[in-house]
Amino acid sequence: MEKYVVRCSKCGEVHGPHSLNCKNGDDALLRTEYSSKQLHPADLPGIWRYQDWLPVNGIIEEGSGRTITYKSQGFAEEYGLEDLWIAFNGYWPERDAGMMTCTFKDLESFPTMQLIRELNEERIMVVASAGNTARAFSHACTITGQPLLLVVPENSAHRLWTTHEQNPSVCLVTVEGDYFDAISLAGKIASRDGFVNEGGAKNVARRDGMATVMLDAALTMGTLPDHYFQAVGSGTGGISAWEASMRLAEDGRFGSKLPVLHLGQNIPCAPLYSLWSDSDVVSDSCPEGMYDDVLFNRKPPYSVKGGVKDALDATGGMMYAVSNDEASASQSLFEKTEGIDINPAAAVAVAALVQAVEGGNVLPEDRIVLNITGGGQKRLMQDYPVRQIEPSAGVSAKDPNAEDEILNIVEGFFGVRI
Ligand SMILES: *Cc1c(COP(=O)(O)O)cnc(C)c1O
Repeated sequence: MEKYVVRCSKCGEVHGPHSLNCKNGDDALLRTEYSSKQLHPADLPGIWRYQDWLPVNGIIEEGSGRTITYKSQGFAEEYGLEDLWIAFNGYWPERDAGMMTCTFKDLESFPTMQLIRELNEERIMVVASAGNTARAFSHACTITGQPLLLVVPENSAHRLWTTHEQNPSVCLVTVEGDYFDAISLAGKIASRDGFVNEGGAKNVARRDGMATVMLDAALTMGTLPDHYFQAVGSGTGGISAWEASMRLAEDGRFGSKLPVLHLGQNIPCAPLYSLWSDSDVVSDSCPEGMYDDVLFNRKPPYSVKGGVKDALDATGGMMYAVSNDEASASQSLFEKTEGIDINPAAAVAVAALVQAVEGGNVLPEDRIVLNITGGGQKRLMQDYPVRQIEPSAGVSAKDPNAEDEILNIVEGFFGVRI
């Protein structure tokens, strides 16, 4: 029997392993269906422990950390929460957390690269990113040698640090423009011969990788939680948490009630919150002024079949709008009470939890999972020297020839003709 099939969430048609779209399904997300209905953790390092429910057969042994779930004491006490669990994604050796790029994007990059490997993909992979995704994919490609083109907004290039030496398989192009400009340029390049698109939210290896946050939490706690908190930009992590919950409910050993999704966004740039609340909390100058602009995505998969709206509806979930002041206060308190530095995006989830406690959306005895989507970057820098990845060149999104310019850069970098 096949390990899994990939099925359209709209029409039910079955597709091949790295399919991103269904011709009958508009933009409906495709979803993996595993033949193993119960989760049996494998004796493998890092994320590969959840091999049963990852759409790959082999593993990338090196550098593949996983989520570490533990019960909060310090922060939980501040708010009188009796059953708060932290799903930590990042670097924190004292707790065996070893994600070397310090965010849960490592959970997306490794399964994606492994799937690409198993499909014998030789084309150049294209990734557009506001930073954390680019760092994670660059890290994974340095290990596997897969050629990678990163298209990153100029203002996010500072996030592209690495613990590796200069890497001949990663070509970085910066774009004068925002994340959306980078996505649309990358999309045009990826549709050409010689390139392959990683697919973003549509890529099941990415979503099932992120889904391991919920798997780790449920296995550690022994049950599904009542509530799940996360900061979102595209909302892919929220969709993944919901998909994991459905699989765990079907497993039969973790309870049958789906955890309520509580997804936080940062005002003044909160497109998902706006769609959910039917308001307009997106200023014209976005992502300027954000606490962390990795949380800005101008076209999140909200109303597509199997997307964020379906995930919220199915779980009775809700969105939160978090101000910079709230995020900053939550970040300080969390770091002080839990003893680890966290990524600013993760502080938005902490602040959403604070709002939920104060608004009575959660009760003191409820079992809560708080996804710390990134942390331990300062901690990592105590242990490892890091350096910036050098851009090969920069283009302007306004330049009508930007696409051709990137192609020239790529030809020069990899020494190929495209
Ligand atoms: C990407 C990212 C998020 C948002 O993830 P979604 O794709 O919207 O689920 C949150 N926190 C950090 C640190 C991130 O890198």
